[in-house]
Amino acid sequence: MKKLILLEKEWIPRGSGTSLYIRPTMIATEPALGVHPAHEYLFFIIVGPVGTYYPEGFCPTKIFVTEEYCRSAPGGTGYCKAGGNYAASLYAGEIAKNMGYTQVLWLDAIERKFVEEVGTSNMFFMIGDELITAPLTGTILPGVTRDSVIRLAKSWGVKVSERRLSMDEVMAAIGGGALREAFASGTAAIVSPVGQIYYRGKEHPIGGGKTGPLTERLYNEILQIQYGMKDDPFGWSMKIAD
Ligand SMILES: *Cc1c(COP(=O)(O)O)cnc(C)c1O
Repeated sequence: MKKLILLEKEWIPRGSGTSLYIRPTMIATEPALGVHPAHEYLFFIIVGPVGTYYPEGFCPTKIFVTEEYCRSAPGGTGYCKAGGNYAASLYAGEIAKNMGYTQVLWLDAIERKFVEEVGTSNMFFMIGDELITAPLTGTILPGVTRDSVIRLAKSWGVKVSERRLSMDEVMAAIGGGALREAFASGTAAIVSPVGQIYYRGKEHPIGGGKTGPLTERLYNEILQIQYGMKDDPFGWSMKIAD
C-alpha cells in the first residue's frame, strides 16, 4: 500500500478537506461456478481522489428505523467488510431513500429492539452525559472511526459506553429531553450528525435538528489529526515519504 501510494502520489488532491481514498479489495477469480470457497483470489487496492465530504458544512441527516429488514445476524458475517453484507442492506436503503431519509438505522435481528448500525456506519447516541454505541458482538462492523471516536471522547473525559441500547430507551430519552446528540461514524464522512429519526410512523427531531457540539468537536479533531495540524497522541498517522 505504501508503494502504491508513492507511485500514485500525483493523484493525492491538495485542497482542504480532500483526500485520496484507499480501498483494499479481494475477490475470488477461480474460473468456475460453485458454492464453495475459491482456491484463487485477487487482492488489489483501489485509490482515487475524493472531494470534501461536506462542501457546504454539516447538514444533519434524517434516518429511518427499520423493524422489517436486517443486515446481519449473530453467527453471520456482519462484522466483516464483505460484499454480501451490503446486498442484504440495499432494499431497505431504497425504501428509506424513497421516503426522504438518508440512511437506515439497523436493529438487532433477533428482537428488533436494540440499535446496531446506521447505513454503512457505526451509530452513537449522547444521552445525558453518556456516549453510547453498540458493543462488538459479531453483528456490527468494528469501524476504525468508531474506535477513534471512543478513544478521543474518553481522552476528553466523556463517559463512553459500549452497550446495548434499545429503541425504547432512545424514545424515552427523546421524550424526556435527554437525547442531546446522535451521529454516525465512518471513514469517508468521519462523523455525520443525525437530526431526525423515523420510528414506527413518527418523526422525532434530535438535538433540535442541529449538529451537536461533541459531534462537531470530534469531526474537527479527527480531521486535524489526519492533516497533521494537530498532535496525534494515538499513533494513527503514518509517514510514507519525506
Ligand atoms: C465501513 C463500515 C463501517 C465504518 O467503518 P470505518 O472503519 O469507520 O470506515 C461501519 N459499518 C459498516 C457496515 C461498514 O461497512
